[in-house]
Amino acid sequence: MAKEELECSFCGRKKPETNLLIAGLDAHICDRCIEQAHGIVIEESKQSDNEELSSELMLKKPQQIKKFLDEYIIGQEYTKKVMSVAVYNHYKRLLQPPSDDDIEIQKSNIIMVGETGTGKTLMAKTVARMLNVPLAIVDATVLTEAGYVGEDVESILTRLLQAADYNLEKAEKGIVFIDEIDKIARKSDNPSITRDVSGEGVQQALLKLLEGTVVNVPPKGGRKHPDQKFIEVNTEHILFIAGGAFDGIDKKISKRLNMAAIGYKAAHDAEALDIDNLLQYIIPKDLKDFGLIPEIIGRLPVLTFMDPLDAKTLRAILTEPKNAIIKQYKKLFEMDEVEMTITEGALDYIVTKAIEYKLGARGLRSLCEEILTDAMFEMPSSGDKKLNVTKSYAEDKLSKTTLKKLKAVS
Ligand code: ADP
Repeated sequence: MAKEELECSFCGRKKPETNLLIAGLDAHICDRCIEQAHGIVIEESKQSDNEELSSELMLKKPQQIKKFLDEYIIGQEYTKKVMSVAVYNHYKRLLQPPSDDDIEIQKSNIIMVGETGTGKTLMAKTVARMLNVPLAIVDATVLTEAGYVGEDVESILTRLLQAADYNLEKAEKGIVFIDEIDKIARKSDNPSITRDVSGEGVQQALLKLLEGTVVNVPPKGGRKHPDQKFIEVNTEHILFIAGGAFDGIDKKISKRLNMAAIGYKAAHDAEALDIDNLLQYIIPKDLKDFGLIPEIIGRLPVLTFMDPLDAKTLRAILTEPKNAIIKQYKKLFEMDEVEMTITEGALDYIVTKAIEYKLGARGLRSLCEEILTDAMFEMPSSGDKKLNVTKSYAEDKLSKTTLKKLKAVS
């Protein structure tokens, strides 16, 4: 056959009418048909992604969800349990076939109250990892009402779209973690006439998102939608998890509990209070007293708390989770064929320093980094194949100045 007579076996275009004609065994395909076919492949794989998602979600029961969380998160038993049930119910709602009874399962958005560094973000990340859904982590402090300097509330969904690589269906089943929700609390108990740009206004703007609505979202830099101004995102199936330290809320809780004790409640009830961990007694009213508007509280119906991290927990965080800090360093050294070991004494020492300098769980990593930097610098070229980190080795590497420095940045 003459070259000019060759044609695309799919659309019939002659070679001169195409930009490119690729030959197979007995057939040819032109550039246009390749593009079209590529589009079909992408669509198909999207569909199978969704089917995969549904079947994956169906498989995990609350106890399995909790087991998964156990692998990554130490302690926080209550929150892990509550979270497992909430996530299970949320996705059950999502997968429920349309029915004609009038029972509508409402969203189980979650709010976690706990000091910074107790694992709130880790909790959201782990759930998202388990479900294999996109996760956007946003900081409530940067949000402002539309029209003010700062980010509009809709920007949350832009982040989620980015996390989902602009796959709308995936984004609409994703998780949004709103950190520092306490920072948008109303500043005074008195709802004043003057506008509260960063507080109540933002809470109002968040309401619709939390409940479920369709929002026009600017995609911002999505490769697949270069010309598109807006993407319509439906938030109905997005799981929102809010977290905050709510500094000072323990005083409100204790005040409320004391008042209850003075009242007709049995006195021994009050005696049994665990005053080192008052957050465990939190109720929605405390959030309201702190300055969250009742509507927001209503849309975050699952309220849970994080336990403070004691020495035992910090110690476990160092070595036990699936990707524990010490395991990570061991792996790093292994890549240089260095066998790293660390003594119990050294681990206890790290924990003691983290507590002494109030560095929390986040500080554990910085402490390890300080202790191991010299070894990580020298050992890849020195040829030594063993590193045993003892307490005195750790002490030697951690001078007072570095500790002070760590405290300053934490
Ligand atoms: P928060 O969001 O509450 O401020 P993060 O989730 O960011 O805290 O936790 C800070 C770091 O501390 C994380 O990198 C995590 O590895 C570690 N961490 C905190 N709490 C735990 C925990 N309970 N189990 C395992 N790691 C934890």
